[in-house]
Amino acid sequence: MLDILFTDITIITMEDDKPVINRGFVGVIGGKIAHVSETAPEEGAARKISGKDKLIMPGLVNTHAHTAMCIMRGYADDYALHDWLYKKIFPVESRLTEQAVLAGVKLGFAEMIRFGTTSVSDMYFYQLAAAKFALECGIRANLSNAVLALSPDFDFETDRAVAELRELLKSFHGADGRRVRADASIHAQYTSTPDVWKKTAKIARDNRLIMHLHLSETKREHEECVAQLGKTPARMFYENGVFGVPVIAAHCTWLSEEDMEICAESGVSCAHNPVSNLKLGSGIARISQMQKLGMNVSLGTDGCCSNNTHDLFEEIKAAALLQKGTTGDPTVLNAYSALKLATVNGAKAQGRENEIGRIREGFDADLIVLDLDAPHLYPVFDPLSTVVYGARGSDVCMTVVKGKVLYENGEHKTIDIERVYDEVEKYALPLVK
Ligand SMILES: [Zn+2]
Repeated sequence: MLDILFTDITIITMEDDKPVINRGFVGVIGGKIAHVSETAPEEGAARKISGKDKLIMPGLVNTHAHTAMCIMRGYADDYALHDWLYKKIFPVESRLTEQAVLAGVKLGFAEMIRFGTTSVSDMYFYQLAAAKFALECGIRANLSNAVLALSPDFDFETDRAVAELRELLKSFHGADGRRVRADASIHAQYTSTPDVWKKTAKIARDNRLIMHLHLSETKREHEECVAQLGKTPARMFYENGVFGVPVIAAHCTWLSEEDMEICAESGVSCAHNPVSNLKLGSGIARISQMQKLGMNVSLGTDGCCSNNTHDLFEEIKAAALLQKGTTGDPTVLNAYSALKLATVNGAKAQGRENEIGRIREGFDADLIVLDLDAPHLYPVFDPLSTVVYGARGSDVCMTVVKGKVLYENGEHKTIDIERVYDEVEKYALPLVK
């Protein structure tokens, strides 16, 4: 007996040989996808969901977020990057308590679930609280606290981010069938030293973790590294062993061709954050070129105060349009390739390519359903085009992770959203000023 059966529904499988089934059946049992076909399964189902005017697809994967920053949504818009960071963001962050960050995590996870994101790679602090809440609310998460070593008396052994990683490894890594995982993290080349990178990479290697870091986000940081050290940030990381483990490199806006080759050879995934890069005036990452050279490219939203939402549908469309606009070639990054960024490629970046990212029998049932009964989604000639160029997060009517319904028709099933607003107001907003 299946737990859930979606009947007569448009299916985006993300399988290369048949990415779309125009009318089919998807069955879920014990948190896994048990049936994907044009024909109905023989067994019955505890719950049948009619697919009339609906589309089912893999849940989206956000490979670069600072989820709790949504408490600063709209707080620092239209500032120059340096003022944005030093006058607005850092002062607030220096005041944040665990309760404030947790309130932000709750708000951000609620938004992601609402908008069809089922898995997130989050980089922030107080990740033990975030891990506990991820387990509660049902989202899939790779959590990291980035090591920053700006102070001259930085000590790796007593550093808070390192201690938090060790605690995450002990208490949460691999919890609920790998749904919650710890990632290692270096904030960026310019905020730490080779000694710190080597030590962090060793923890990643010893525990088979992903390394999450920022890479060549701005022209300034990239060029200063070259001017001071004679090498690019990517080459510095490569030569110091950081790229010896699987890496999610956020932004990659200013990578040189040689950097891209190094990243491709090392298996580094670029987490492309087009909206954040545009909003902060950082530039446009050349992801078509990266892909041509063999790099895996996925998508992220970055923090909500440089975005200002966690709506990955916006990122998918922005990514496709920017590559077409900057290369002058409208055939570049077609709808299927653009959708891969937020599904298959995201799963690969997170080290979850055999778990999620496709609707495939045996994969975890991380699924989202879109309601196509809306003027902006009609008519449908090609479901892939409809989703990439027409859909938005608010078209998601159901979000499922590991077979569990987290959101359905306007209602969060695992998060008390009114209480979250109260907690943000009480614990977080007084510190954002
Ligand atoms: Zn970031």
